[in-house]
Amino acid sequence: MAAWQVFAYIAASILFITGLKMLSRPETARRGNRLSAVGMLIAVVATLAAGGLDYTWILVGLVIGAAVGAVAARRVQMTGMPEMVALLNGSGGLASMLVGWAEFVRATDVATFSAVAIVLTVLIGGIAASGSVVAFGKLSERIDGKPYLFRGQKTLNAALLALALAAAGFVVADAVVAGGVGGTALAFALVLLLALALGVLAVIPIGGADMPIVVALLNSYSGLAAAAAGFVIDNNVLVVAGSLVGASGFILTMIMCKAMNRSLANVLFGGFGATITAGTAPQQGVVKPLSAEDAYFILEAADSVVFVPGYGMAVAQAQHVVQELAELLSKNGADVRHAIHPVAGRMPGHMNVLLAEANVPYEQLVEPEDVNPAMETIDVAIVIGANDVVNPAAKEDPASPLYGMPIIEVDRARTCFVLKRSMNPGFAGVDNSLFFKDNTRMIFGDAKATITAMVAAFKEA
Ligand code: NDP
Repeated sequence: MAAWQVFAYIAASILFITGLKMLSRPETARRGNRLSAVGMLIAVVATLAAGGLDYTWILVGLVIGAAVGAVAARRVQMTGMPEMVALLNGSGGLASMLVGWAEFVRATDVATFSAVAIVLTVLIGGIAASGSVVAFGKLSERIDGKPYLFRGQKTLNAALLALALAAAGFVVADAVVAGGVGGTALAFALVLLLALALGVLAVIPIGGADMPIVVALLNSYSGLAAAAAGFVIDNNVLVVAGSLVGASGFILTMIMCKAMNRSLANVLFGGFGATITAGTAPQQGVVKPLSAEDAYFILEAADSVVFVPGYGMAVAQAQHVVQELAELLSKNGADVRHAIHPVAGRMPGHMNVLLAEANVPYEQLVEPEDVNPAMETIDVAIVIGANDVVNPAAKEDPASPLYGMPIIEVDRARTCFVLKRSMNPGFAGVDNSLFFKDNTRMIFGDAKATITAMVAAFKEA
């Protein structure tokens, strides 16, 4: 490899690491994203400029890929981001799998190490690719989001994994003994097909509120597959980029597990929500609806207000009017904060992104553990299209599939407004006893329309 190429790869790696670091703070995240993109451009240009390549097919791929990517990125709604992320994870896994496959077909004398890298690339890449397609289907509701469980499922998965590893071992053994992988086409095909089957089988039993964890984990797998592909084609920058994605995806997975108070094993094998009907306690009490205009009178007298955004705020695109109302409340003398649950919305950081877009000051954003201890002192908690993340069943009903997940405890605020369109449950499909509590007032309608009416009432007063 030429010295200039090594230098370009080191520069790209530094940009990846710096950009990733900057993603951890909302103020620097956009710049971090751009920096990493520049790093990727440098890596791609340096790889292509190294020469010795037939550019025809590369150009065809570039044009098709760039066109599909640009159109998809422009068209996707904020609410469709999680599905898009799932598809992008899947594409990463598929690309790595194809690199491993191509190298298997091309290589004649393969060292043991390369043979291990090839089978790992195909195995992990295949799982990430097909698993992401199922996650995409579930998140976009093209297939049923409920866990699909059957007798002997875990045994079957374990047996298939053992078979895949045995076939992979056979491919590697051939490289050791015969100095090539040419004679193991059947074993290799088995690794590839079993990887694709395992991806599907691993994701179908996962349902409901556990999908964010699965998407983060698949992201990590696609990174690991890319790192393994880097070893296959001896490309350092791919190893670095893949390792960064693998490690950060895994850290995110563990953060999401902690946010939901679940172990990774419980998420992967627990079958979230499979017992919803049996587990949910019957709802009791009376629903107390309120109009936006009447809500104004309570808000006008409030000294402290906490907004709790959820997926419905993203659907309604209500973030700008939420900020307008927050400013009016602050001017009126209220202490205003926005409490963000780590799994609110449909992707990690979903609510932070929306509120940042509406220029909500970062110092007003708080986490559940900041706001829960003093919830009794909050005059009004305004729940905007959030449901699962404020469901008291998580702490009150041991039979509920949500039981044990930390929530934002708005049920303990002096008054709680819930803004949504109906009594329908949230993503996890679990009924919510918050709607029936004495201190809860339901304000039915599209969240943006409701908050706009509250803002109008403030302005008219
Ligand atoms: P939920 O999905 O639990 O609830 C959203 C609520 O928004 C619904 O009950 C719906 O009620 C309401 N809504 C929808 N549209 C509107 C609208 N236009 N105006 C007002 N309300 C509206 O959301 P949460 O944010 O509380 O919880 C997120 C859930 O998604 C969790 O279960 C989480 O595990 C899961 N998840 C999270 C991911 C992440 O990474 N953050 C990824 C994948 C899943 P109605 O129809 O009555 O209006």
